[in-house]
Amino acid sequence: MKAVTYKSESGLAWLSLDNPPLNALSHALRKAIVDELDRAVADPKVYAIIIIGGERAFSSGADIKEFSGGAFYAEPFLPAVCDALEAAPKPVVAAISGACMGGGLELALGCHHRVALADAKIAFPEVKLGLIPGAGGTQRFPRLVGLENALNLVVSGATVPASMFKGSPLFDVLVENTGANALRDAARDFASGLRKRDTPVRRVRDLRVKHPQAEAFLQFAKTGAAAVARGMVAPLRAIDAVAASLENSFDKGMAVERRIFTELMASPESQALRHAFFAERAASKVDGLGDKTPQRKIQQVAVIGAGTMGGGIAMTFANAGIPVTVLEAKQESLDRGMAGIRKVYEGSVTKKKLKPEDAQKRVALISPSLDYGAASKADLIIEAVFEDIEVKKAVFRELDKVARKGAILASNTSTLDVDKIASFTKRPGDVLGLHFFSPANIMRLLEVVRAGKTRPDVLATAMSLAKRIGKTAVVSGVCDGFIGNRMLDPYAQQALLMLEEGASPQQVDKAIETFGFAMGPFRMSDLAGNDISWHIRKRHYAEHPQMRHMRIADRVCELGRFGQKTGSGWYRYEAGRRDAIPDPEVDRIIDEERKALKIKPRRIADEEIVDRLLFALVNEGARILEEGIAQRASDIDVVYLTGYGFPVHRGGPMFHASQVGLGHVLRRMREFAANPHAEPGSWKPAKLLVKLAAEGRGFDDPAAPASRRKKAAKGKSRG
Ligand code: NAD
Repeated sequence: MKAVTYKSESGLAWLSLDNPPLNALSHALRKAIVDELDRAVADPKVYAIIIIGGERAFSSGADIKEFSGGAFYAEPFLPAVCDALEAAPKPVVAAISGACMGGGLELALGCHHRVALADAKIAFPEVKLGLIPGAGGTQRFPRLVGLENALNLVVSGATVPASMFKGSPLFDVLVENTGANALRDAARDFASGLRKRDTPVRRVRDLRVKHPQAEAFLQFAKTGAAAVARGMVAPLRAIDAVAASLENSFDKGMAVERRIFTELMASPESQALRHAFFAERAASKVDGLGDKTPQRKIQQVAVIGAGTMGGGIAMTFANAGIPVTVLEAKQESLDRGMAGIRKVYEGSVTKKKLKPEDAQKRVALISPSLDYGAASKADLIIEAVFEDIEVKKAVFRELDKVARKGAILASNTSTLDVDKIASFTKRPGDVLGLHFFSPANIMRLLEVVRAGKTRPDVLATAMSLAKRIGKTAVVSGVCDGFIGNRMLDPYAQQALLMLEEGASPQQVDKAIETFGFAMGPFRMSDLAGNDISWHIRKRHYAEHPQMRHMRIADRVCELGRFGQKTGSGWYRYEAGRRDAIPDPEVDRIIDEERKALKIKPRRIADEEIVDRLLFALVNEGARILEEGIAQRASDIDVVYLTGYGFPVHRGGPMFHASQVGLGHVLRRMREFAANPHAEPGSWKPAKLLVKLAAEGRGFDDPAAPASRRKKAAKGKSRG
């Protein structure tokens, strides 16, 4: 199949891009564009050329699978394709519908004219992969839309409708999307008009970019971008590249763009962002499941419990148009739950995020009930009642009685044993964990917990359902806390130990937030509720009598300081304000506990704080991998990127560790273990970590050849 189909008709050459699903600019497509362009130029009957995509996309941009091989740079390289279009002696018109993004937009900018549907989606998403446009986008776009508009799009990576540029020379014609032929007709009319006008071709490179206060504006843009970039480099370098368009010479501007693009392509930030992109795709591929694994139909859902999680889960399904029954034990709790749901939708309407009629439709999809019989028709039942095994037992016994044959039974438990929960039913093969995160209607992550007896079709159904309801699913085996919360335990332990040793909650939070986390451990705990981890700690103290009590954290909770919901926790919160205010009361508790432990506080460097928090996560992650709880290291990264505010430009904890080198991670862990205040055993390295470090590998690296392994091991024994 050719990637471009060619048709010549009444003096017009139609080049239709045909690389489904989204016309990614693979090497084959690029080559076909240039070949067919040459054919059209050589055809004496042709006076104008139209490049058109499909309904879903003109082109979504580069084929990023090609980044890792040589194909991305293979000739014709995209900049050369754009130059060839621009240099064509006959007018070239881009006919744009659907996604016109990144390299796709650059392709359109290489054309002499653009005709677009008003609802076409325009974007330069390169910054989201730590890059900038590299095929002239930073130079041609400002020549058509001006410096400010260009910066807005290139720096943010945002997607906007083509109609936003109505009146600008970006589009010669903008038409409403009135149906199948709207774009073709408009492009044909426009191109035919060109013959009548017989004007010379207009090249974007010949235009000039002017701005009355360019210097001041660029400075302003840099300050703004730095404030939101959280340490990311690409948005700032994007400004430098667009600024080069103010140069009168297009070629000089292009040279700047090329230099910055090449530099960013090799940056750790871009590697991390690309890893994150592919990691998310990989997470949907589950061992033992394939395209042929049957799936069950999910048309109706029931949720047991209308508390914090039950309400959020119910909204998630209603938002996806799936009817859901919500069951409660008491009328009062049911009313409270439904009122909470309505309040969330009303808030969305007030903020104009949702039309009132759509909010009504969603509420109408949620049916409250006190009767288990109401769950009898559901294809999937999700339990979200109190975190107490006896309560879960009673609920699952009941569900076993009422659920129809073939229904999937799920638990939203955070810490309880899903195998045990499954054993409360006579159908353990139909049971699995669906661990949503709070607020469930917003958070993207869903841990799908595969219990010992979960059937493949049940798991496959859960994975595709996750996609349908807009979640990123990661499969976890059964263990205390699954992937995410289990790793959080040693992370939180380090945060608390550092308070004993000399740090303050605000220093710990600030250090890890500067690294890029959305929130440090103390602010995060105040948001989630300190009582949740206190409850878990108390269970652990009871189960492991030798375990050291985290007295500072326990004392904060003993004072009822559960966090934002009680107005105080690790910080103080004033009514109506979100800022976390440091509180001398907490400092006093910390001070008293240091004295009780006879610890002379020391100044802890931010670097130590960051490494201790991260490497505690990584070591537990390595154990999770070696136990087979997670299928691959990148799945762990996805959990942390989508559910725990790990900075996406660092690629996730496992990728970050591989990037800094597992040997380095191990050395740091040994230093931390030598700290007289270290908790015995807490820095015992996972076997997998030791093995990979010895082989000179990262978590996701394929096995190295034996010769390299020997060298790496030798190097390590010397260090
Ligand atoms: P919650 O206390 O807010 O809600 C629990 C609800 O279950 C209450 O409304 C209660 O009336 C209802 N309930 C209790 N027994 C019932 C029964 N027999 N039948 C019907 N309803 C009953 O608790 P939550 O925070 O929503 O947590 C629910 C589950 O989700 C727990 O297993 C918890 O571990 C898990 N979870 C919580 C979070 C979180 O951040 N809150 C995150 C992930 C998972």
